[in-house]
Amino acid sequence: MSEEQGSRPKSATTRKVAVCDLDGTLIDSDAALANAFVALGVDREEITFGHVLADECDRLGLSVEDYLAAYDPTQALPFAGVTELVTSLDRWAVCSNKHPHSGRAELERLQWHPEVALFADFFGGPKQLPPVLRLLGIAPDQVIFLGDTAHDRRCASDAGVTFALAGWNPRATAHSSDIVLSHPLELLELLGE
Ligand SMILES: [Mg+2]
Repeated sequence: MSEEQGSRPKSATTRKVAVCDLDGTLIDSDAALANAFVALGVDREEITFGHVLADECDRLGLSVEDYLAAYDPTQALPFAGVTELVTSLDRWAVCSNKHPHSGRAELERLQWHPEVALFADFFGGPKQLPPVLRLLGIAPDQVIFLGDTAHDRRCASDAGVTFALAGWNPRATAHSSDIVLSHPLELLELLGE
């Protein structure tokens, strides 16, 4: 009773997989996000970032539908170096609190093709990494999560995943334990290429 084939390591490569937040990490979307709220009559100073859209709309007394109608994705551009980063990765994923409607529209517009892209609708609340890892079929130690907020940092630590801060976003605030990247292509080194 011998096995036909011995068990082989799942992957011969040690290269990790990048899971990325979208807004404020890959895309400089502050202006697009804020302008939609301003167009609906919200004071610019009242706007905060990194939330589930439905929660932020609730807080500001707006409907998600009105917000999406006012949101212009063409105002959101990739941070310098991000397009070079994502096009050089063979495996990467997006994990974002963004509304799926605008999130998928932006991936389409930018012609980015992550292997997995999960948005707020999938989680039914703030995003989490475990479902992304399950869909990728990889363990937490095979992943780097790239993000720009304290919530992103918490998502990573809750899932036992290494966190890297998108230090190219001037709004990103480093924690003493963070790996802080100053340019998107620095992620390649961290992934083990
Ligand atoms: Mg973000």
